[in-house]
Amino acid sequence: MNIEQLYSIYEQHRSVQTDTRKLKANDIFFALKGGNFNGNEFAAKALEMGAAFAVVDEAAYFTVPDKMMLVDDALTALQQLALHHRRQLNIPFLAITGTNGKTTTKELINAALSAGLKTYATAGNLNNHIGVPLTILSILPDVEIAVIEMGANHQLEIAAYCQIALPTHGIITNIGKAHLEGFGSEEGVKKAKGELYDFLRDNNGTVFVCNDYGYLLDMAKGIPHIITYGSSDADYVGEALADSAFLAVEVRGNSQVGFIQTQLVGAYNFPNVMAAVAVATYFQVPEKDIAPAIAHYAPSNNRSQVIRQGSNTIIMDAYNANPSSMRAAIENFAGIQAPKKILLLGAMMELGADSLKEHQELVHLLERTHWDAVVLVGGDFKKVNHPYIFLENAAEAGKWLQQQQYQDAYILIKGSRTTGMEKVIAG
Ligand code: ATP
Ligand code: MG
Repeated sequence: MNIEQLYSIYEQHRSVQTDTRKLKANDIFFALKGGNFNGNEFAAKALEMGAAFAVVDEAAYFTVPDKMMLVDDALTALQQLALHHRRQLNIPFLAITGTNGKTTTKELINAALSAGLKTYATAGNLNNHIGVPLTILSILPDVEIAVIEMGANHQLEIAAYCQIALPTHGIITNIGKAHLEGFGSEEGVKKAKGELYDFLRDNNGTVFVCNDYGYLLDMAKGIPHIITYGSSDADYVGEALADSAFLAVEVRGNSQVGFIQTQLVGAYNFPNVMAAVAVATYFQVPEKDIAPAIAHYAPSNNRSQVIRQGSNTIIMDAYNANPSSMRAAIENFAGIQAPKKILLLGAMMELGADSLKEHQELVHLLERTHWDAVVLVGGDFKKVNHPYIFLENAAEAGKWLQQQQYQDAYILIKGSRTTGMEKVIAG
């Protein structure tokens, strides 16, 4: 493959697409392969639809030579093009990984940085082997700082993304239990996410570390520049004020950031907010502009959204669930003052051999607090011992909830994405 030639085509158009359904005129189309599709089959159609150029990796589909390039592997070509582009951009790249809160942290940081700098951040959740290069290729030459979300469910994934994004700065939000099937154990998760720290250690990088998490400080040892945030003894210190459904944060010390009223549910968002305070202050966004920018951010997509229905307050957290985020959500809910508290919890997925144990531990956590009602929905909740209501699926849970006719209740709805717990309030 001739990367210089491909890059000059990219520089003319600066827009890359892998999905013909989202294609715009003058995009460069990369023919990727997935489980059920072969992008090569769509390459000629992409050109007919107005694509400027197509990169294919099967000779049979190399049918328009002056508008196509035939490479060994289109995904590798996409990643190499991204790396080439990265090298032209002489700006800080902040990479974000971790078990929970990557997107939320990224969005908060994007909001806070944008108050002072031209910032480009990963769109939505484009955090995998395709999303990371697409994100990099979306960065225009006038951007001053990039924020890249990196997700992983197996070893050496983050290391590979670092080789494309060449981050100069990094954040691991936290290490918890998720995707245990792919990682083996929590130690496995630590090693995989730690690949970001390893890259920054070897490349004179800077990390922002929540120093409330001792394990992160341990993992960060040896990294040349370590900036800390948290609830005490950190470079950036704040206090979580979370007695209502919404989190507020008071930034302390000699910072001018001050009081931040967020639209986020849960004390577990405190480190996510402080990461944004630390990063924006460090990159010299005017301190008076940071709190309003963070306050303005409202989560979407069922990520800890607050929904008012009549006199009821629903905390809708149906975007995903794993043992650590379930624990955080339940502990936070226990701390909220409310006349009536109801939980509808969908099962957790991808936990492999630990699944029954993790579901049983969650039941034990629930048993420590008095709730007005608990409904467990689907999956491995069926197989563990508990004193609560069990229902097979979200639709049944929705029917149950309607029948109760609750007033003045706080209702927490959470579960793995495949349990579709957002359907509970669809009616
Ligand atoms: P994904 O792996 O799908 O990309 P993510 O890491 O980007 O997820 P978010 O989308 O930001 O995570 O948040 C998803 C859910 O994780 C939230 O709705 C909330 O329940 C939980 N969560 C967010 N931040 C934290 C945190 N700091 N600790 C524990 N749980 C959290
Ligand atoms: Mg995400």
